[in-house]
Amino acid sequence: SLSIGIVGLPNVGKSTLFNALTKNDALAANYPFATIEPNVGVVGVPDPRLQKLAEVFGSARILPATIEFVDIAGIVKGASEGQGLGNKFLANIRDTDAICQVIRAFDDPDVTHVDGETNPLRDIETINTELILADLQTVERALPRLEKEVKLKKDKDAPLVLEAVQAVQEKLNEGVTAYASGVDLTLLRELHLLTAKPFIYVFNLDEDELVDEALRDKLSALVAPAKAVFLSAKIESELIELPDDEALELLQSMGQEESGLAQLVRVGFDTLGLQTYLTAGPKEARAWTIDKGATAPEAAGVIHTDFQRGFIKAEVVSFDDLVAEGSIPAARAAGKARMEGKDYVMQDGDVVEFRFNV
Ligand code: GDP
Repeated sequence: SLSIGIVGLPNVGKSTLFNALTKNDALAANYPFATIEPNVGVVGVPDPRLQKLAEVFGSARILPATIEFVDIAGIVKGASEGQGLGNKFLANIRDTDAICQVIRAFDDPDVTHVDGETNPLRDIETINTELILADLQTVERALPRLEKEVKLKKDKDAPLVLEAVQAVQEKLNEGVTAYASGVDLTLLRELHLLTAKPFIYVFNLDEDELVDEALRDKLSALVAPAKAVFLSAKIESELIELPDDEALELLQSMGQEESGLAQLVRVGFDTLGLQTYLTAGPKEARAWTIDKGATAPEAAGVIHTDFQRGFIKAEVVSFDDLVAEGSIPAARAAGKARMEGKDYVMQDGDVVEFRFNV
């Protein structure tokens, strides 16, 4: 499933946010791996459509799409020279699809800032510098091997890879991330560069700053074209203690329409070009994560590789049509159920049943 690494300086609210994201999670029972590592949490993607689907199909349980959050130890200045940013850090972050930087924008005299006072831009620069320095080390370690591979002429792609790595090294030296370097990232894949991953910025704000549009615009501009999420980790940790309706009321009283988790999920899906489709039956109503633009067989493959291999066709009803008609048979009778073949491109909210050979 989609995996997002949470990084940031110490004392910015990472643990508070991570705990809020993962704590109240009813998924733990369904996903035993959720508790294997204390710093990894599997979170269900909030999706009100699933409740509705479960009603239509009489489903016994709901399984939302999932996102894995990995809480990565605090980065400090000099981290890439070994202060805290060891192999464990790299191993944790290497396999994530995106990096979520938690940036402190709240002021609180009781919470020490590692570099003095609150200063989002300086903190962003500190973190990016450390990630870039870590990547430069990775590149410098890889170059001798890549040069040797070119000399040995074993792999016809080796010169292209070497050229790409040299180009990215130059950019990293200028302080530009691999993601923004313009270098073909597919050629860099084997290096697992940290800055080749998309970044998502979470600004941890004071409660009363949440509605400050001018501040939000200013902070958004600091990180554009990367996306920004605005929340208060402290409020998030209070929200999880409340029943849904009271949590929504608290959010709305602060001028917010959705929780930090919901925002993060939305921005995460958007940044990574993901969407979901739905399946339902008496056993479960379920959301599955696919790439935007995925075809019906590719979507089937997310359930099981056999479904993709033996794909025949898919019966598709859009969620809105299904709800309007009230059931699959009613949707069929109304001509709202479509038989789609292997070239069909999945749309967000498709409710699907696959037909396949085994
Ligand atoms: P981490 O080191 O980045 O994991 O930071 P923590 O989550 O441990 O938070 C550090 C301190 O800041 C704790 O005392 C938190 O209670 C406090 N804190 C976290 N988020 C907020 C916030 O949104 N507002 C305020 N005022 N304090 C916060």
